[in-house]
Amino acid sequence: MTITTQPTESMTAVTTWLGEFGAALTANDQGRAAALFTEDCFWRDLIAFTWNIRTFEGRAEVTAMLTATLDLVRPSGWKVTAGEEPAEAGGITEAWIDFETSAGRGHGHLRLRDGQCWTLLTTLYELTGYEEPRGLRRPMGAEHGVTRERTTWLEKRQHEERELGVTEQPYVLVIGGGQAGIVLTARLRQLGVPTIVIDKRPRPGDQWRSRYKSLCLHDPVWYDHLPYLKFPDNWPVFSPKDKIADWLESYTRVMELNYWPNTEAKNASYDEASGEWTVNVEREGQPMVLRPRQLVLATGMSGKPNVPSFPGMDSFRGEQHHSSAHPGPDAYRGKRCVIVGSNNSAFDICGALWEVGADVTMVQRSSTHIVRSATLMDIGLGDLYSERAVASGITTEKADMIFASVPYRILHQFQIPLYEQMRERDKDFYERLEKAGFDHDWGEDGSGLFMKYLRRGSGYYIDVGAADLVANGDVKLVRGQVDHLTSRGVVLADGTELPADLVVYATGYNSMNSWAADLISADVADRVGKCWGLGSSTAKDPGPWEGEERNMWKPTQAEALWFMGGNLHQSRHYSLYLALQLKARQVGVPTPVYALQEVHHLR
Ligand SMILES: Cc1cc2nc3c(=O)[nH]c(=O)nc-3n(C[C@H](O)[C@H](O)[C@H](O)COP(=O)(O)OP(=O)(O)OC[C@H]3O[C@@H](n4cnc5c(N)ncnc54)[C@H](O)[C@@H]3O)c2cc1C
Repeated sequence: MTITTQPTESMTAVTTWLGEFGAALTANDQGRAAALFTEDCFWRDLIAFTWNIRTFEGRAEVTAMLTATLDLVRPSGWKVTAGEEPAEAGGITEAWIDFETSAGRGHGHLRLRDGQCWTLLTTLYELTGYEEPRGLRRPMGAEHGVTRERTTWLEKRQHEERELGVTEQPYVLVIGGGQAGIVLTARLRQLGVPTIVIDKRPRPGDQWRSRYKSLCLHDPVWYDHLPYLKFPDNWPVFSPKDKIADWLESYTRVMELNYWPNTEAKNASYDEASGEWTVNVEREGQPMVLRPRQLVLATGMSGKPNVPSFPGMDSFRGEQHHSSAHPGPDAYRGKRCVIVGSNNSAFDICGALWEVGADVTMVQRSSTHIVRSATLMDIGLGDLYSERAVASGITTEKADMIFASVPYRILHQFQIPLYEQMRERDKDFYERLEKAGFDHDWGEDGSGLFMKYLRRGSGYYIDVGAADLVANGDVKLVRGQVDHLTSRGVVLADGTELPADLVVYATGYNSMNSWAADLISADVADRVGKCWGLGSSTAKDPGPWEGEERNMWKPTQAEALWFMGGNLHQSRHYSLYLALQLKARQVGVPTPVYALQEVHHLR
């Protein structure tokens, strides 16, 4: 017996739209295609049409993009993803979609309003002919039969480790073997791109090991998975730093990465004529030259300390260091500690120092957004990254795509109501904080933590307990700017003197293009411009509006130079698109970049 079911209204609306859209694209009729979008539409493309990461706003931008890209992209096969029933809520019909391009296979997300497309996400996840050896394509491992002079897996690995970078050059060199460099290299390995990742530290994971000892991830496990290999289900919700370090180290082995520890890049230069980088490195103390075609800086968005320069620092007789060099509290029992700054690191360090009985003062220079961890996990992340989300069928990959499907221009509108709920839930907490004189904000438009992170990568604390110490006065709070240091301590602009044995500068990190200035040249760093930020015209994220993170995971104004970084979620998700961009170039798939990043700010 055959059972036929009627398509739902949502399914009919989506298939009708996809049919018309596909037909307009096949007919190369950009105007007809753009007319299927609402006037206030958004189309976010992750390399499928543009070989770039861009969001187009309004019909004119959609038309212009299609005019420039359709001939090459030749999209086809638009359909609703199997097993994903479109759904309607509040006048918006949402659907997961699949399509193909001349280069590969795409996946996306569609929101229809009154039969027209309001938001469209298109992503390329696989290049045709260069699919990853996964699932049905997984390698056999064993070679059954008899073969003279057979080489084992181990011998092949050892051969590769011996030769790559010595007799054979890698196609990609990744500088920086933190989580970002590691996951990108894992993806490139699966795609068969010869890659070496180098790090100046002795062991993978050392970036986490070297941080202050009380540190645990502030993001929960569901948000932190690496590609290919998920954390087991007994993994703690908030991973202690040394545990995540060990995981990263094991991952490099299991994923068979060519990871060179104790290897520091000293400088790099690019020869446009030959399309080759010359990178001078020091491996285990020995100078070497590597000549990759593509260079990725995965040297850390929170890797280049922003150390302030105050008059008198050299005369201070106590100890002073940036938060990234803070070893933890043990040596400071009973000491007077002044922490300059009031964001995540400042709070973590204050809390740990107070726990060992130090006398702790926090200097707040500008306002900070604080949200309690449990509240953020429940209201801010729970629908996408939690056990609850997993139980309702939202895998980490699906959550990444849902998150990606909301254009940055309107993301704050989705965030504001969540933060209003948080404000209500923890009302007493915020009242206590404000009573203690803490300068608290919710982001300039009330959109909270994620928007601050995306816009400026700073300005917040996910409270895991230390905020109460400030609220109840256990950690002393002083507001103001540091003016200078004396031999005995810190003096603020209003003349307040803070005697100190230790001063910690929890003053954040520099833009990633400053790494390019160090390693390549100031000229190249300026050509690339500021990394990170959306151009939201809020504090530390100057306009004009960019709509995407500046220079991250996509082509920059400097040929063959790429930036990889971000938190674990971003490293996992965007490493796919960067890996595919590199793979396409390696195998000669045409990759004309539409709307290359413009540079408006140098730092
Ligand atoms: C205190 C703190 C807490 C954080 N908590 C979280 C969290 O809970 N969740 C989250 O997702 N993110 C968190 N982050 C942010 C971010 O995930 C981490 O900073 C993470 O380490 C970034 O990874 P990365 O690979 O981009 O850079 P890094 O881990 O900084 O790695 C960069 C690597 O580059 C190497 N390097 C630099 N220059 C060279 C050179 N010339 N040659 C060779 N190697 C070089 C460095 O040795 C370093 O190992 C936190 C950051 C900080 C500072």
